[in-house]
Amino acid sequence: MIPRVGVGVDVHPVRPGRGCWLVGLFWDGVDGCLGHSDGDVAAHALCDAMLSAGGLGDLGAVFGTGNPQWAGAHGVELLGEVRRRLAAAGWTLGNAAVQVIGNAPRISSRRAEAQQVLSTAAGGPVSVSGTTTDGLGLTGRGEGVAALAMALLMPSGPGVAS
Ligand code: MG
Repeated sequence: MIPRVGVGVDVHPVRPGRGCWLVGLFWDGVDGCLGHSDGDVAAHALCDAMLSAGGLGDLGAVFGTGNPQWAGAHGVELLGEVRRRLAAAGWTLGNAAVQVIGNAPRISSRRAEAQQVLSTAAGGPVSVSGTTTDGLGLTGRGEGVAALAMALLMPSGPGVAS
């Protein structure tokens, strides 16, 4: 097997007053995103990037929005499950990058913490960055937060689980 790349995108609507989980962290005083799970678009985009790289489908197929087992699940829990499934299929994370697109929170203020949490959950180095759309579109108006992720998987040998 040769290394494989994958891509993932996620967008959720912001709900004023809802707690904010993003890049694996809780952000006090920031309006969070609605979702079947914790609404962490960065973790979800990372999961999709890793699943696509491994040829294992996507978040909806693996976890299912109608599956009560994952209702309210945190992004890092989903990432851990993705890591386990990839390991069982012979893959380990080479590295991944995720960029959050939105007005708040300011990702750079907790970048190191976010990278540590996501890297531990994903089983490999994860880079975290943030940007805005200068007031344009649904993220610029504060209606939602988006994330884009890429992942590179390395073969860990067939049937090697961890
Ligand atoms: Mg999502």
